[in-house]
Amino acid sequence: MAEPPAGDRMGVEPPEGMKHVCVYLGGHVGYRKRYVDEAEDLGRLMAADGVGLVYGGARVGLMGVLANAVLSNGGFATGVVPRQLAYQELAHEGLSRLYVVDTMHQRKYRMQSLCHGCLALPGGFGTIEEIFEALTWAQKPLLLHEKPCVFVNVDGYYDHLFRFLDHAAAEGLLLESNRALARQAPTATAALRDIQSAWDAEEEALQQMLREYRQ
Ligand code: AMP
Repeated sequence: MAEPPAGDRMGVEPPEGMKHVCVYLGGHVGYRKRYVDEAEDLGRLMAADGVGLVYGGARVGLMGVLANAVLSNGGFATGVVPRQLAYQELAHEGLSRLYVVDTMHQRKYRMQSLCHGCLALPGGFGTIEEIFEALTWAQKPLLLHEKPCVFVNVDGYYDHLFRFLDHAAAEGLLLESNRALARQAPTATAALRDIQSAWDAEEEALQQMLREYRQ
């Protein structure tokens, strides 16, 4: 993807070669403790596996829970926040790296350009819009990226949404192959493992291509 418009950048650069997952998730914590538990599990696991977090940069809601879990376990967290939200003092002030951009569109573009895969934990309009934009960019015939996109379907939170996607495919308005891009996993751990296996498969395909090229 092309380099997005420059924003203000604060903090430090991630370790060389670090892979990043962009996580979309609620600006609220919701009513179920498991939403918070899953955000915490994900943050811990990302830090332990050396996977960097890219997210919306807020200190509130599940977003804040996740960023704090990454940071308190020694991980690397990048926030991308629109100036308007930074002015409202919703930006997390302790992130490893923070981009402040001018518009919501620049923000989504920057988040995508920094990551190697996307996850959606439970969330509302913002979360759903962001993961669907990532899916839209990945679908045929656009094919703007091939990053795995996984919904963390905590306690069936996204069941209705998946039923709707099946309906859209059955009605011929969503190609089955594009429907399959919207992956799901029951827990944050399983979702991160799914992304990591996609990275491994991609690496293996690359190595295979190189072996064939050298023969
Ligand atoms: P929602 O699911 O509607 O709560 O929105 C969450 C998503 O929208 C996140 O992935 C963020 O990228 C963005 N977002 C919503 N609220 C904020 C906020 N206060 N600060 C930064 N980003 C936010």
